[in-house]
Amino acid sequence: MKVLNLRCAHHHAFEGWFGSEEDFLDQNARKVIECPMCADKSISRLPSAPRLNLSGAREPAQPAADKSLAVAKPAASPAELSPADMQALWLQAVDHVLQNTEDVGESFPEEARRIHYGESAHRGIRGQATAHERAALAEEGIEVMALPLPAGLKGPAH
Ligand SMILES: [Zn+2]
Repeated sequence: MKVLNLRCAHHHAFEGWFGSEEDFLDQNARKVIECPMCADKSISRLPSAPRLNLSGAREPAQPAADKSLAVAKPAASPAELSPADMQALWLQAVDHVLQNTEDVGESFPEEARRIHYGESAHRGIRGQATAHERAALAEEGIEVMALPLPAGLKGPAH
């Protein structure tokens, strides 16, 4: 006997027992297989469980990317992430920004301009800017990202 994972056109998943794969193909071609939930006869076969497990096992073998790439490519799709996972990813992203930027504090808008116009070394910076200042920078073509930091990561005030 062979147990196949099947699905109807309405996405009801169910198991079907057949003597062989050919039996399934033959019965399906003759439309004698019905969905037990809605009696639909448009039955398709889902990949068998062993195949799914195999493809899942291959993923961690991919070369480990750096931190920023890990954030950009979470293992699961966003819909599958729990709020705790989302928070962990967010904290990872924040941590990455903190590790890779220089804190210039209140002089952020001024320093961002200097870097943009080549008067200061090109580097990632972070600091405080009001919405108005960010809008002014954007008008000059300077990309600025607002990053609301979790309260615990703000550190001592400068
Ligand atoms: Zn169905």
